[in-house]
Amino acid sequence: MAEQVHEIIDARFRDLIVGSAKLERLYSGCRWAEGPVWFKDGDFLLWSDIPNHRMMRYQPDGTVSVFRANSNFSNGNTRDRQGRLVSCEHGTRRVTRAEYDGTITVLADRFEGKSLNSPNDVVVHSNGSVWFTDPTYGIMTDYEGFKAEPEQTTRNVYRLDPETGELTAVVTDFLQPNGLVFSPDETKLYVADSGSSHTAGAPRQIRVFDVVDGKTLTNSREFCRLVDGVPDGLRADVHGNIWTSGGPAVHCYAPDGTLLGRIHIPEGVSNLTFGGPRGNRLFVTATTSVYSIYLATNGAQTP
Ligand code: MG
Repeated sequence: MAEQVHEIIDARFRDLIVGSAKLERLYSGCRWAEGPVWFKDGDFLLWSDIPNHRMMRYQPDGTVSVFRANSNFSNGNTRDRQGRLVSCEHGTRRVTRAEYDGTITVLADRFEGKSLNSPNDVVVHSNGSVWFTDPTYGIMTDYEGFKAEPEQTTRNVYRLDPETGELTAVVTDFLQPNGLVFSPDETKLYVADSGSSHTAGAPRQIRVFDVVDGKTLTNSREFCRLVDGVPDGLRADVHGNIWTSGGPAVHCYAPDGTLLGRIHIPEGVSNLTFGGPRGNRLFVTATTSVYSIYLATNGAQTP
């Protein structure tokens, strides 16, 4: 018998899940799957297979193919409001955007004249600004990029201004900032700190900030601490619940920080996203595989 997939911790979780929905494994054969992003208009999922230096594509008929070979060890992916793919690249230590004609635009690769560490995950605000995290995972070893000494003294969260192209460090006191997501109304930004992956005793923490005018952050505070695992990727559903990774599970937190429940996955989870035509299908990147399960809620992300 399969192990129970849904773990209900708070009764509110029952309204978010489909009890009869099964966990499906869509693909296996990655070394470290990350950065899932759904293309509603194309009806496919993209994700990064970081150590294999490639991006993959899943289509609902079950077809899986290489979307981008030589991905520069891409990690987190998202889409901007024009639907363009925005990617974090470890190997080139930059954030890029794929234009409609397939050309690649470099959005950010330096801060104060020095190389970024290794951009990890990225979100785009409705005002066009690009927000991303810059921990050191991609330069720690030659496995997920190219080993190098950091040039930055801190591991920052950055905001790229869409008009001026100016890059601003909006948070500078994270151990290792990782996944990030806006609340559906964009009044809050949630950022995971995965520093406990390499620093014993560091909190398995997600922090939340108030977003002022779509530009700056105030009122830094703890949103939650994971009961186990390390928080990596984050997504919000339409109700403002925050879904995150931690160990071999997806964890769902209410907007007040209460852990509502978990979905158990057979492998360590790195990241997740909502997809499918109605945004009610959760896609989970987990070590070597990609899994999915239908939910009774819908993702808040656009497009
Ligand atoms: Mg990440």
